[in-house]
Amino acid sequence: KAKKAAGSKAGASYNMALQDTDKGVVTRFPPEPSGYLHIGHLKAALLNDYFAHELYKGTLLLRFDDTNPSKEKQEFQDAIIEDLALIGIKPDKTSYTSDYLETLYQYCIRMIKEGHAYADDTDQETMRDERMKGIASKNRDKSVEENLAIFEEMKKGTETGKKNCIRAKMSVDNPNKAMRDPVIYRCNTDIPHHRTGTTWKMYPTYDFACPIVDSLQGVTHALRTTEYTDRNPQYQWFLDTLKLRQVHMWDFARMNFIRTELSKRKLTKMIETGRVWGWDDPRLPTIRGVRRRGMTIPALREFILKQGPSRNIVNMDWTNFWATNKKEIDPVAPRHTAVELKDAVKVNVINGPATPHTEDKPKHAKNPAVGLKKVAYSNHLILDQEDAKLFKQDEEITLMNWGNAIVRKINGSNPITDIEVELHLEGDVKKTEKKVTWLSTDGQELVPAEAWEFDYLITKDKLEEGDSWEDFFNTESAKKTDVLCDSNVADLKDGDIIQLERKGFFRVDKAPKDGKPAVLFGIPTGKSK
Ligand code: ATP
Ligand code: MG
Ligand code: MG
Repeated sequence: KAKKAAGSKAGASYNMALQDTDKGVVTRFPPEPSGYLHIGHLKAALLNDYFAHELYKGTLLLRFDDTNPSKEKQEFQDAIIEDLALIGIKPDKTSYTSDYLETLYQYCIRMIKEGHAYADDTDQETMRDERMKGIASKNRDKSVEENLAIFEEMKKGTETGKKNCIRAKMSVDNPNKAMRDPVIYRCNTDIPHHRTGTTWKMYPTYDFACPIVDSLQGVTHALRTTEYTDRNPQYQWFLDTLKLRQVHMWDFARMNFIRTELSKRKLTKMIETGRVWGWDDPRLPTIRGVRRRGMTIPALREFILKQGPSRNIVNMDWTNFWATNKKEIDPVAPRHTAVELKDAVKVNVINGPATPHTEDKPKHAKNPAVGLKKVAYSNHLILDQEDAKLFKQDEEITLMNWGNAIVRKINGSNPITDIEVELHLEGDVKKTEKKVTWLSTDGQELVPAEAWEFDYLITKDKLEEGDSWEDFFNTESAKKTDVLCDSNVADLKDGDIIQLERKGFFRVDKAPKDGKPAVLFGIPTGKSK
């Protein structure tokens, strides 16, 4: 239902933007296999999918934009395919820009022959400066023969070839700098391409390849993030100059989040320098990262589709993201109990059951379908130091899901080592101020676990132009607390989502195994983080 509602909002905007195109719609999602997908990419993927498959009976293409072997890898390509499948996005066809390298080469030859492109060996810095100032390159008027000869050198990856690039002859001084003779081909002999090996020593740029391949593949609507808006006239120029079939452009806003870096280059650096644990680190905004942190797929889809295809760039905070997830997990997450290991307070229940016993209790008070768990009762308990520290002599407290007890003796201070309580089960649980979680140490085998809580990786809401993320990197973003859990935790599996009473929701990153503690990751609920 949520998906429908979210969809209809996106649908209304799309209908306005794309009147008269009710059939034959073809969209594409063009990731570069240079990293794992993040939630920003997912917005692009879901919009294309929604547009092709839900709004129209159209076609969604997945096209790997793989023309820069220095950044791309098979590992990334495989991960992107897996992640899209996981989210439920089913492209009708998967293709690769690298399948078009011969075709693009031919188009470039045509551009040169028709006088629309030239070879340029101007060094990068000078080229940048000339483009800024609107100065023509000294190579702009080379002959077709010379340009073709250099292009062949580039194809072979010779020294001369490597010094050159090919530029489209668009404009020297157009007010839109994207139109100032953009580079369309350059050499790359550093590293073999993960699909085409060493066949090619030069590769087309995205600016050149994208309009041509979009047009050849029958794409009717190219959705791009608004940072490409300046490059739309350039895209159009290629289609017009090469007399290719037209493609409608539609720009939508990038999705940004506070205290979060979404650039693949920067995420790669965080991983390579060991600042985080890998592409699936629970602190990263990758699909794998947020999943590992406990985001569910329905909530992820709902959250992103709800954003719609608007063009307004907003720096979102994470509150709604995690609140959407909480609605999903709260009704179904089994409830368990944990006590912090450090300074756990031993409790002697003076009138407790002489022999330990267990009872079957619901794992979720409001949802019997979640099933039953075993709760152990005895006269030996532990509870959190945090809680015991607040007890007063002869105070009546509530042992949650058991009943009231009166604190009769408190031994030790800072930390308290042990206490004695007297059960007072006929007491009114509504009248006590302190309701505490507890675990019986007899009658069950407690399960050790590491409970991890995570914080943002970046300490500033929005990095400004000129800010280096490295200067605002949070080096204390992961905190581990050792806990003991009720015996039922032994049956949990990797990926299960639970609630530890009064502590919060957790995803089981590693189930307890061979005496090793379980690893639990705290799931934000939208309240603070
Ligand atoms: P980089 O981070 O290296 O600049 P990229 O984000 O452009 O890479 P691509 O693989 O080229 O990564 O992106 C695939 C698609 O996802 C593109 O259509 C791109 O516009 C879109 N996209 C990327 N980031 C976001 C974002 N934050 N919000 C929405 N769409 C995005
Ligand atoms: Mg890109
Ligand atoms: Mg980019």
